[in-house]
Amino acid sequence: MLDVDHIRSQFPILSRQVNGKPLCYLDNGASAQKPRVVLDTIQRAYAEDYANVHRGLHTLSTISTENYEAVRGIVARFLNAPSERDIVFTTGTTEAFNLLSYGWAAQHLRAGDEIVLSVMEHHANIVPWHFLRERQGVKLVWVDTAPDGSLDPQAVLDAVTDRTKLITITHMSNVLGTVVDVKAICRGAAAHGIPVAVDGSQAAVHMPVDVADLGCRFYAITGHKLYGPSGSGAAYIHPDLMAEMRPFMGGGDMIREVGKDGITYNDPPMKFEAGTPGIVQTIGLGAALEWMMDVGMDDIASHEAGLRDYALDRLGGLNWLTIQGHAPERGAIVSFTLNGAAHPHDVSTVLDKKGVAVRAGHHCCQPLMRHMGVSATSRASFGVYNTTAEVDTLVDALELCHDLFD
Ligand code: PLP
Repeated sequence: MLDVDHIRSQFPILSRQVNGKPLCYLDNGASAQKPRVVLDTIQRAYAEDYANVHRGLHTLSTISTENYEAVRGIVARFLNAPSERDIVFTTGTTEAFNLLSYGWAAQHLRAGDEIVLSVMEHHANIVPWHFLRERQGVKLVWVDTAPDGSLDPQAVLDAVTDRTKLITITHMSNVLGTVVDVKAICRGAAAHGIPVAVDGSQAAVHMPVDVADLGCRFYAITGHKLYGPSGSGAAYIHPDLMAEMRPFMGGGDMIREVGKDGITYNDPPMKFEAGTPGIVQTIGLGAALEWMMDVGMDDIASHEAGLRDYALDRLGGLNWLTIQGHAPERGAIVSFTLNGAAHPHDVSTVLDKKGVAVRAGHHCCQPLMRHMGVSATSRASFGVYNTTAEVDTLVDALELCHDLFD
């Protein structure tokens, strides 16, 4: 059982005020706050242990390299990846999907080949595939969500044809909170020999993830949502897929020999990490993931399930508000619209005056917005440090908003 007061005491920012009110931070889906251990790790990495990695033979470079490389093992443990060599560091999920697109799909897909994806994807898992559509005639095959916002794994598998070369799917929607049965999709796809790539940006924050059990070939996570630094992230890539990939960025570190007439590459995963990486960001990511594992992913999941249920219950009781999405399997993200005149941007502005931070807009999910028939929503997304009292604060602020606009 998670001690939320103890958790909160580890996040310095949670004791600040915003517009004269205690901060009620419900924008974790966009980016999460950082615990003291992450801030201290970043401070120490710069103040005491900083040097470039993989390059020098001097003491600080050795320490820095050890601290940085140790994070591969931490990520592997966090995702239950079989080996730390299956982990490629990235700057976040956007880079991870661009790596997959440029590094693998661009070489292996021909005009008329198909990529299956859901209408619920974040632009990070859409735009790199549009590049292939524009540049080499690859076809995007969209799978709609059901009216309740759930995604039927069979509908995804039904979209597969003999031209399908990739299924790429979110594990948890950043708008509706819908959790997708990725394991069923991977099982069905394996029967056709089709790799499945998974956007774990949201899911990995809220539930234990086991890539070996899921059976996916690619799983992307992003540090800034995982209580770690922005500009950090990682992708699990199955060795068979990694063996078929070509680097998409060239430079230092990813090569072994460079001559006038040719080059030889470093071994994977470093073959895919060109240039000086986000050294301290990655070290900070390691601290964040260790902190999450110490708190306990099961405890995090059950705490947030309680928040989700309470939020759905309280928001569901407001007859002037529509909750967007009612999938039975969902995480602690609730999108909603007010039925009257208030636009989500107005809602966000009024809530901010009460110290409540929520996101408003299309959430980088324009195909989903069109599918739902709305231009924007307000979104409350919960994290490990949120409380049911903060759900009450949200509801009080929304009531004020309703009074102002209707
Ligand atoms: N995918 C999902 C589901 C997200 O919620 C986000 C972030 O908002 C991203 C991808 C993009 O991640 P990043 O900020 O690491 O590029």
